[in-house]
Order: sequence, then C-alpha cells, then structure tokens
Amino acid sequence: MPERRGHRVGDHGVSVSAMTFDGFETLAIHAGQEADTETGAVVVPIYQTSTYAQDGVGGLRSGYEYSRTANPTRGALEECLAALESGIRGLAFASGMAAEDTLLRTVAKPGDHVIIPSDAYGGTFRLFSKVLDRWGVQWEAVPQSDTEAVRRAVRPETVAIWAETPTNPLLTISDIEALAGVAHNSGALLVVDNTFASPYLQRPLTLGADVVVHSTTKYLGGHSDVVGGALVVSDPELGDRLAFHQNTMGAVAGPFDAWLTLRGIKTLGVRMDRHCANAELIVAALQRHPAVSEVYYPGLAEHPGHKTAGRQMRAFGGMISFRVRGGEEAALKVCERSRVFTLGESLGGVESLIEHPGRMTHASAAGSPLEVPADLVRLSVGIESGDDLVADLAEALEQ
Ligand SMILES: *Cc1c(COP(=O)(O)O)cnc(C)c1O
Repeated sequence: MPERRGHRVGDHGVSVSAMTFDGFETLAIHAGQEADTETGAVVVPIYQTSTYAQDGVGGLRSGYEYSRTANPTRGALEECLAALESGIRGLAFASGMAAEDTLLRTVAKPGDHVIIPSDAYGGTFRLFSKVLDRWGVQWEAVPQSDTEAVRRAVRPETVAIWAETPTNPLLTISDIEALAGVAHNSGALLVVDNTFASPYLQRPLTLGADVVVHSTTKYLGGHSDVVGGALVVSDPELGDRLAFHQNTMGAVAGPFDAWLTLRGIKTLGVRMDRHCANAELIVAALQRHPAVSEVYYPGLAEHPGHKTAGRQMRAFGGMISFRVRGGEEAALKVCERSRVFTLGESLGGVESLIEHPGRMTHASAAGSPLEVPADLVRLSVGIESGDDLVADLAEALEQ
C-alpha cells in the first residue's frame, strides 16, 4: 500500500503521542485522514490526477504510479473503511455491484458453487443468474435465517456463502456467527453484504465473516449524492488478491466519489442514531394504525430474528416494511400521498424515502421465489424531525 503524500498511513487507531483512540466516531472522522503534513489541510484533498511524476525511471514518490492502481483520496477512504469494519484492508469501487463482481471473479471460477440468500438484493441475484451463471459459476438460493438449510446446501465445490442481514425488503435476519461456522467447516468463505446495517450497527468480520461488502451509495455515503461500493477483509493474502483484481479489472472509485463518501462517513454514527430513533417512533405508530396489517422490523420482539439481531447489531436500523390492509391499490396510494417521504428507490440517505417493492425495486422478482407481497410498502427512514415523519405517514394512510 503506498504511503499517501503528507498523510500517515498506519494501523487503525489514531495515534496521538503514545495513546491510541479507536472509538467508532473517532475512526470515522480521523482514520486515514490525518491533517496534511505539508499544508495542514484537515480534509483529505481530492487528488484529481491520473498519473504521478517519477524521480527517475521507477522512482515513485510515496509509491503512486497510476490512479487505477492507487490514488491518495481513494486510499484514505479505503483505510477508513477498513478501520470502521475492524478489517485490515479496504477496497473502494465504482459501485456496490462493481465490488461484488470483482469479489466473485476473485474467489470463484467455473464449476465453483456459491450459496446466496433466497431474498438476496435484486442486483446480486441478477449478477448470479444472468452473468456469473453464463461463466459456469453454480449458485443456489437458500433461506439464510435457517442455518441448517444453509449447512445442507453446502457441497464440496462450495467456495462461498453469501449472506445479507437484514435483508431487503422483508428485514430477515441471519446469524453471522453460525453461518461463519458452517462456511469454515467446509473451507468456504463467509461474505456478508452489510449495506443495510452499516458498520456502526454491525461488524461482520468480528463475528467470523471473511469479507464485508458494501454499497457505499447507501448509509456510508448517506446523502444520496454518490454511487460507490466497497470490500473489507481481515486476511492480508485475500486483500492482496482482491487488490490485484481491483487493479486488473479497473472498476475503481474515482477521487471525487471517494471524497464524497469520506465526507459522508464522518457523520455515520450520529446519522445512524437518528435513523434508528426515528424508525422506532414510526414502527410504534404503524403498529397502532388500523390500516396497517403487518410491520417488519427486527426491533420488534415478535420478529423471528429479533434475538439474533439483538446479539449482532447495536440497534435495529432505519429500514421498515409494512403491509397495507387495503391491498395493492391502497399500498400504491400511500406511496403516492406521502410528502416528507419522497417516492423513490435506494435507501440510507438523510432524506426519508418510500417505495412499493412489488412495482419498483423488486418488480423483476415477480413470479420468482423472490416475489414480495403486493400490499408491501418499504421505508428508508431519514433523519428529519420524527414527528413530521409520523404525521406524514398517518396522513398518507388516511384514505
Ligand atoms: C444498493 C445495494 C447493492 C448494490 O449497490 P450499488 O451501489 O447500487 O451498485 C448491493 N447490496 C445491497 C443490499 C444494496 O442495497
């Protein structure tokens, strides 16, 4: 890893004299981001450059030669991500899907087998079913809240178990520690897509996972202004293989995108606290509402994954789904009538979003085992005033 000009590249703690400060929010603001030793700039600059002057052939200053291979702004983000996920190596990509593709082409070859969640993120499902499938990678969708079902699906050719928890849009929870045990018993890797929880709420590497995947487009970026992805690992050898493929395949995050993501990450902790607090207010209001037949939120005691979520998550997150008693038409009306909640796809931004999975994010799952109920509404709860969000939904549900 090159030494960023003017910035110390070190281990994860932020060292001042002999002390190490390693609280989550401290790392979010400082890991990989110490003030520039030459200018004192407290914010990592956007190194908008493709190449670097060499002092004689091969005489690299601070190790940089070409920005596909390494760029100081991207390097700062990669170091920060590694620190936040308690890993040793982070890699930043142009999108979450680019990160997934790079990972899978690094760890799987034709004939290998990967187990994915039966309610995988739609883009992940499409990558397996429409792209990797043609290249001979075998895959199988299994409900991962059922650890035994995953164990039964493992074959000699299984190279990875791909988990998501909580899932989208039904907020299903799987047990990361148990799945790591299943994977490691058979020499496979456990990959966890940690996009919905963010590292503030859940750190899969500390529970035995081998790779964490992120769409940094969501909570990490947090402001709906940048698309990006990331991988974090705790094994240096796997980190090197991924970095080789990242450079070879080239789907890297650009300097400005990396900078926006770093800027977003600084407030991740306080944003997540508010996302979670607002979600709890809304869950309580939805549960009381006569037009709502069911609420999906891992914070509810009756949620089947509640205990596991309580063990592996700091709090239960900002994503909620619910079913509307009046059926599909009524659910569509709720989405169209809300005003503070913006009708749109994606999630994890400061602004609240509402959507109808059956017609929007999960439309392509119609007729497949991934099909979602037609009366389902999904919320990405933002950090606006909680009372306004509750009032907005109450009005939208009044039909
Ligand atoms: C959005 C998302 C992705 C894909 O990330 P992009 O940045 O859109 O490419 C992967 N997994 C989950 C859970 C997501 O929500």
